[in-house]
Formats: sequence, structure tokens, C-alpha cells
Amino acid sequence: MARMNLNSCPRCNGAVLDYVQPTEDSPMCIMCGWRDRTVSESVLAEVKNHLGKSFIEHTYTHSKATRGKPPMSGWDREKKRRAQLRMRANDQRELNAS
Ligand SMILES: [Zn+2]
Repeated sequence: MARMNLNSCPRCNGAVLDYVQPTEDSPMCIMCGWRDRTVSESVLAEVKNHLGKSFIEHTYTHSKATRGKPPMSGWDREKKRRAQLRMRANDQRELNAS
């Protein structure tokens, strides 16, 4: 993948060496000082994606757990049912009007 860029600099087409600065992980161009950051960036993006996924999974299981809370009382359920029926009736009227 990014290996192809390691031996030539995209900026000046010079040689990119990974032993110019032993303290740095990234390969570096000996001509202009350009450094190949694409590898570490893609790794970072992967890590971010993974973290995002696990976060979504976490919130999903969390919201699922809250579903196990005590159920609504009969009257609350009836109120919700009537509200939904009223909303649906309103939708029907708007559909017929247009
Ligand atoms: Zn260069």
C-alpha cells in the first residue's frame, strides 16, 4: 500500500530514508525533510473507527438494558396509545387534504 512511497518523496522525488533520524519512527526525505506520515495516520484512523464502533456497541447494550425497566402503568400505556391514534388521525387528515 503506502510502501511504494517509502523510497521516493512525493514533494521533490528525492530519496526517503528511514534512518536519517533514528529517534523518529517515520521515514524522512533527505532532500526536503518531507516525512511519510500516511502509515501512522491510517493506523490512527483505524483505531478511531474501532473506538467509535465499540462506543456504539456500548451505548446500544446500555439502551437495551434500560428497556428492562419497570413497564408503564396501564393508564400511561392507554394515554400513549390514544396520543398515537390522534397523531395518526392527524396524518391521515393532512394526507387527504393535500
Ligand atoms: Zn523531498
